Amino acid sequence: MAILFALLVGLAVGSFLNVLIVRIPKGENIAFPASHCPKCGNKLKWWHNIPLISWIMLQGRCAYCESPISRIYPVVELLTGLIFALLAMKLGVGAEWFTVALIFSLLLALSVIDFEYYAVPDSLNFTALGLALLLPLIVWGWDFITGNSNELSFYKDELIRTFKDGAIMGASFFALGFLVKKVVKKDALGEADIIIAATMGALLGLPLALIAIYIAAILAIVPAFAAKDHMVPFVPFLAAGTWIAYLFGDTLMRWWSALYA
Ligand SMILES: [Zn+2]
Repeated sequence: MAILFALLVGLAVGSFLNVLIVRIPKGENIAFPASHCPKCGNKLKWWHNIPLISWIMLQGRCAYCESPISRIYPVVELLTGLIFALLAMKLGVGAEWFTVALIFSLLLALSVIDFEYYAVPDSLNFTALGLALLLPLIVWGWDFITGNSNELSFYKDELIRTFKDGAIMGASFFALGFLVKKVVKKDALGEADIIIAATMGALLGLPLALIAIYIAAILAIVPAFAAKDHMVPFVPFLAAGTWIAYLFGDTLMRWWSALYA
């Protein structure tokens, strides 16, 4: 039941994510005007706006002018639904689940935007970082309200850790980007990658965040070679690496320790 609830919440968040993905890079207001067809401009009725279902019922076409609606919309909704459902299995439904799922939803939005524009909006990127840094504070608030509080030092230590690991990862990426720029005279790591690295540090902790970077780099190798001179957006791979590391962190950490045993 909780998983189904999580899935439905995720589908709704995914629907809003589509609004962010379409409007933020164009500098449009995210609340007004109401959803409309980009081709004919007709306002959508609420039953045109049900995540996933509407797209299937309308067979991917606008209800008014029948111009095709991008497959990106239902895919983003489905992926966000899965993010919320899978995280509910791992964390149970609560403030930690919702916040972590929001962070991954934002990383998904950033990935889609990066694919399309080869640049990502700072507003979404910093929101993800802020949530990752303040997660222990949010969990403390939730635990306090639900009456399950741990010792105060538990939250304080965790808060210090998110800021410390976030700073270490952000600074490392900044230094690496600086070095690469000096050596190959190319912008390899942008500001956006540095912010995401900080988010990864805060969310995953060290050394798991480093393992996530390795996974991202391995995933990016084939597309980078296939693209040759084209740019390959790196944000989707960082996001995928973070997702894998978060879900399978315990197993990955066991392998990591085995290497040093
Ligand atoms: Zn239309």
